Amino acid sequence: MNDIYAQLGVRRRINAAGTLTRLGGSLMEDAVLDAMRAAAGASVDIGELQAAASRAIAKATGAEAGMVTSGAAAGLTLAAAACIAGFDIARMGRLPDTRGMPNEILMPRTHRNAYDHALRAAGAVVVDIGHNDRGTGAGIRGLEPWEVAAAVTPATVAFAFAAQGDNAHEIPAVAELCRRHGLKLIVDAAAQLPPASNLRAFVAAGADLVVFSGGKAIGGPQASGILAGKRDLVASALLQQLDMDVSPARWAAPDLVDRARVPVPPHHGIGRAFKVGKEEIVGLIVALERFVERDEDAFGKGLTDRLGRIAKALPAQACSIRPGKVPLLEIRTVDGPAAAARLAAGDPPVHVGEGQLEAGLLAVNLLTVKPEDDASLAAALARAIA
Ligand SMILES: *Cc1c(COP(=O)(O)O)cnc(C)c1O
Repeated sequence: MNDIYAQLGVRRRINAAGTLTRLGGSLMEDAVLDAMRAAAGASVDIGELQAAASRAIAKATGAEAGMVTSGAAAGLTLAAAACIAGFDIARMGRLPDTRGMPNEILMPRTHRNAYDHALRAAGAVVVDIGHNDRGTGAGIRGLEPWEVAAAVTPATVAFAFAAQGDNAHEIPAVAELCRRHGLKLIVDAAAQLPPASNLRAFVAAGADLVVFSGGKAIGGPQASGILAGKRDLVASALLQQLDMDVSPARWAAPDLVDRARVPVPPHHGIGRAFKVGKEEIVGLIVALERFVERDEDAFGKGLTDRLGRIAKALPAQACSIRPGKVPLLEIRTVDGPAAAARLAAGDPPVHVGEGQLEAGLLAVNLLTVKPEDDASLAAALARAIA
């Protein structure tokens, strides 16, 4: 077998930790790989291909338009760039230098996370709002509408919302507040799939722009993502990502760009630094279609059955299956961090979810484990927790 990783002296790992970027993200199905291989062998106009992606993403999400990015984080940078520059090509050319232009993005203090660097990379200034009383146990009050109103200044362009399973119901009210104050609502839904219904939920709830990872549950190329939302905002983001070494006289903009408002092509924008190739664009489109068509319940049941078989190799009292769209096998150990270290030092190295390691819990997620590796995974787990 032609094993490129062996040739490079890089070890294959069993990744039971989920679609973590540092472990290679999603594993692609053959149908996606075949489409990427076919895409790799021919030349196309990338703007025309992104317009086709826009149609596919619009169909899957219910949004007006969409584009393929090099990841959800890149989508956040492009979303911020679109909200700051709109169709002003001089502003596009200046980013991330936003001196003298409206550049503030409001974000609830409880939503701040390390990916807000992606917003700041476009030149945005993230403004914390509200308190974290619930998070710290100090009190019961959450972010209130008057606090949003008080934070809005002439420099405010957008509101960033980090979606999680338990806060999505807040989006319609936040969207209404944003409309009232003239702010664009950006939703980071990078890891909010499955359920596939979330592809549509945040757009339907009133978000102007939503980002998803292509390299997580969708099963697209690891370095891909989706930016979906309002046509003009997506068009602005696309203009700031596409290669702009074009003849101004002969420039053929993708059809989602309103040429009446962009008569002259901008120069290379902030997103030129995270371009996507034809292979990623095609791979993402095909993976997205397959993800939408998949029978989610049957898929989840398949994972649960596999987890059940793996659990049989382990002490029954240590195991419990946590149900969900992506079910997990939780294994109680006496020495969580050390057990995880033994797994990672094994041959092959095995990685498990480490979110509750300190409490002794290892979480096994099969989204990125091939069924043929289940037996070695079970044997490694049995050795590591013995
Ligand atoms: C994974 C993740 C991202 C980044 O996604 P990429 O596709 O890897 O760029 C951003 N935000 C959240 C909440 C994530 O979980």
